[in-house]
Amino acid sequence: MSILGNILRDLTSVIFPNRCIVCGETVDSSVHGICLSCRLSIPTTGFCYRHQNPIREHFEGLFPVDECSSFFIFKADDSWQRMIHNFKYHDKWGYALTMGRWFGAELRASGHYNDIDLVIPIPLHWRKSLKRGYNQSTYIAEGIAREIGAKLDSSTVRRTKNNPSQTRQHVKDRWSNVDDIFTVRDATKLENKHILLVDDVLTTGATISSCARAILNATPTCRVSIVTLAVAGELAKRL
Ligand SMILES: [Zn+2]
Repeated sequence: MSILGNILRDLTSVIFPNRCIVCGETVDSSVHGICLSCRLSIPTTGFCYRHQNPIREHFEGLFPVDECSSFFIFKADDSWQRMIHNFKYHDKWGYALTMGRWFGAELRASGHYNDIDLVIPIPLHWRKSLKRGYNQSTYIAEGIAREIGAKLDSSTVRRTKNNPSQTRQHVKDRWSNVDDIFTVRDATKLENKHILLVDDVLTTGATISSCARAILNATPTCRVSIVTLAVAGELAKRL
């Protein structure tokens, strides 16, 4: 970069300082939006480094599943929860991409996700997607796909029913609420592929299971793995 370029960059950083997307402290532009203190304090699970882990145990009785992992444990009222709310409800979709890349780098380093062909975000219903303007899981999936060298596919699987938000429902209702809400548009695209399903927060796993079953019913020759950025609720309490 030229001397003038350096001066302009320094001036810009004084006027518009980069802030950590988690704690809000000013950070150097080289740390991709998350300060060292937050990077060191994130409650990661490390599950991506173990084929058998509590997330896989949660899903393996429900349908044939390959690899499973959640990046970190979601705790209410901490700065990581605020960061997730920011990308979910306040248009900060770039945070989802940043976290996806960080998680993706971990998945790549683990060696368990190197044969993934397609990364598929859990789709939102088009009405919810239109209202929000984007699907945050698509950005997490895009970050992961870039890091593990797989293809992002956000169009083959569709959510056909706009089921009500799961957050305030009883656990039993969450499972009956998600029956048959996903369809696969072109099953041939998924044949013999290893698919990585991506969601933002794992709570009961009902929505993810429904999506995985729709894919496996439409394309029995594919394999399905699952990752979520965070794990919350009763499942997280048991970890
Ligand atoms: Zn921070």
